[in-house]
Amino acid sequence: VYAIENGIIEGAAVSGVSDKEHLRATPRLATNTDELLECAGTRYTYSPTILAFEEGILQRKKRLAFVGTPCQIEVIRRIQAVPLKRYSEALQVTIGVFCSECFTYEGFVTKLIQGKMGVNPSQVKKINIKGKILLTTKSEEVKIAPLKEAKEYVRKCLYSCTDFSAELADVSVGGLGLDGWTLTVLRTEKGEELFRKAERAGMIKTRPIKKEDKSILEMLLRSSKKKRENAARFVG
Ligand SMILES: Cc1cc2nc3c(=O)[nH]c(=O)nc-3n(C[C@H](O)[C@H](O)[C@H](O)COP(=O)(O)OP(=O)(O)OC[C@H]3O[C@@H](n4cnc5c(N)ncnc54)[C@H](O)[C@@H]3O)c2cc1C
Ligand code: SF4
Repeated sequence: VYAIENGIIEGAAVSGVSDKEHLRATPRLATNTDELLECAGTRYTYSPTILAFEEGILQRKKRLAFVGTPCQIEVIRRIQAVPLKRYSEALQVTIGVFCSECFTYEGFVTKLIQGKMGVNPSQVKKINIKGKILLTTKSEEVKIAPLKEAKEYVRKCLYSCTDFSAELADVSVGGLGLDGWTLTVLRTEKGEELFRKAERAGMIKTRPIKKEDKSILEMLLRSSKKKRENAARFVG
C-alpha cells in the first residue's frame, strides 16, 4: 500500500478472489489501495499469480511489485536471471508469503469446507490454519476442523518443494501462529529500504523479535527444515 500510494509502483501482481467461484484464489493486478485491500487474506488454494504480472507487462506498466508463494518468487527470479528484459526491468520488489502446503480447490473447498464442514463457500469470511482449520463465517461463527482432514487434498507441488519461507524474496511474511502480528523477514537491501520507509511513514506498526519470541524463530527453522526433508523423501 505504501509503495502504490507513493508512486514507487504502479501496480502489484497479487492473488484475489474469483467473482464466480468463492475461495478460488485468482491472479489480480491491483493498481490502487482499494484493490490491494480487497486481496488481503489467505486463500489456501493455488493461485497462478504470475499471470497478473504478465497482465501488468501487457498493460505496459513500468513499475510492478510481485506478491506470491515461494515457488512463484523462484519463477520471478528465474525470469530475472534469463533475463526476460521487459519483465525484469518492471519488477521493483517481491514479497513472498510463507507456505507449508497448498490444497486443491475441489478437495479443500468443495469436499471439505462445503461437504464435511457444511459451510457454503460464499459465507466464508476468513480461513486460518493454526494447527487446525479455523473458519470464520460472515455471521462470525467459528467452525473448526482437524488439519489432518485436509491432508488428502494437499497439492502434489509440495512433494518437490523445498522452500517454506520464500528465501528468494526481498521481504518474506508469515503468521507462524502469531496473534495479530506478521513475522517479517527483510532479505535484501531493496526490501529493507521499502519496509523502513513504510515504517517511518507510519503505514505499518512494527516491533522487533523479543527473547520471548524464541519459539517463533524456532518454528521458522523447523518449518523450513521439514519442507526440505519432505522434498528429499519424495524426490530422493
Ligand atoms: C497457500 C498458502 C499457505 C500458507 N502457509 C503458511 C504457513 O504454513 N505458515 C505461515 O506462517 N504462513 C503461511 N502462509 C502465509 C500467511 O497465510 C499470510 O499470507 C501471511 O502471514 C501474510 O499475512 P498478512 O496479513 O501480512 O498479509 P495480507 O494483507 O493478508 O496479504 C496476503 C497476500 O497473500 C496473497 N495470497 C493470498 N492467497 C494466496 C494464494 N493462495 N497464493 C498466492 N498468494 C496468495 C494475497 O495476494 C495477499 O496480497 C500461507 C499463505 C498461503 C497463500
Ligand atoms: S507447497 Fe511449494 S510449490 Fe506448492 S504452492 Fe507452496 S510454495 Fe508453491
